[in-house]
Amino acid sequence: MDYRPRSTLVAAQHLVPKARFPAIDIHGHPPALTSLETLNSLIADMDRLNLRMIVSANNTSGERLTRMLQTINASPHKDRFRVLAGIDFRNVDPGWAERAIRQLEADINAGAVGVGEIPKSFGLNIQKPDGSRLRVDDPEIDPLWDAFARLDVPVFIHTAEPQEFFQPLDNHNERWLELALFPDRRNNQPGHVTFDELMTERNNMFRKHPKTRFIVAHFGWHANDLAKAAALLDQFPNVVVEVGAILYDLGRQPRAAHDFFVKYQDRILFGKDAYQPEEYPYYWRVFETADEYFDYYRDYHAFWKLYGMNLPDVVLKKLYYQNALRVVKGLPRAGWPQ
Ligand SMILES: [Zn+2]
Repeated sequence: MDYRPRSTLVAAQHLVPKARFPAIDIHGHPPALTSLETLNSLIADMDRLNLRMIVSANNTSGERLTRMLQTINASPHKDRFRVLAGIDFRNVDPGWAERAIRQLEADINAGAVGVGEIPKSFGLNIQKPDGSRLRVDDPEIDPLWDAFARLDVPVFIHTAEPQEFFQPLDNHNERWLELALFPDRRNNQPGHVTFDELMTERNNMFRKHPKTRFIVAHFGWHANDLAKAAALLDQFPNVVVEVGAILYDLGRQPRAAHDFFVKYQDRILFGKDAYQPEEYPYYWRVFETADEYFDYYRDYHAFWKLYGMNLPDVVLKKLYYQNALRVVKGLPRAGWPQ
């Protein structure tokens, strides 16, 4: 059980502390952007990484959102941060959509550039007032999804969890270590919604609202099955995907991932999820280099090594900032490389 072999492979190393082009983190979970000191300390990290902008996806609404926007706008860094608004999916009843749309309009007027991150609990376990599970395609929510199209802002949404979280916790489970460390991530109880049910509900919702732009977190949990990811993008022109916390799946199939990123170069946005400045360079290295057999930063996500995808510059620019600028219209347009 203690067998942890050292690799004797000596391979070329090209560490990438700084992204080749300025990047936008569309899946930002920075500390609360409510003081100039916080912004200043983030800017120091961001400059080192060539992270031009963080979009806070902390599901913030109302007064707290307004306070964050005031702090950002009063700072010298107002073009380095944007904020997504939040939606409260508890108590979805017949009057809910109207209330949620009113709050959404107020938050967008205050300066939010979209909504997110709609959390995984929506679909997994948030309940309706009658105690039933709130389905992702619940018809009571339809007017809200349509409101996003009218307001011309995107929805950043996280649905489900990695498939292995829904599988039995046994010695074949690829995420055994993580499920052992974090028992609350196990979604394999009897009667619990399945991965496939959640994907079906999510896709029903995308189909019902073709004019609403959806940014799908974590590659829709299809980075381990790129044919499925391709089918999602082919089927729904209103959908783009984001790469947060699935780097281990791209980096173990660098040739297929390279070809996928070239083919779908207009449909993939950079995002990181957990804010750990020292982890961003792993993303830059997988995307930008052809390095082989190097370590990932979190062993409970992946016990394997990563390989670089060696993406061309034209694809990197789209991944790092151009696609985000197209999908999120409220981002600052000036100062980006052509
Ligand atoms: Zn997130």
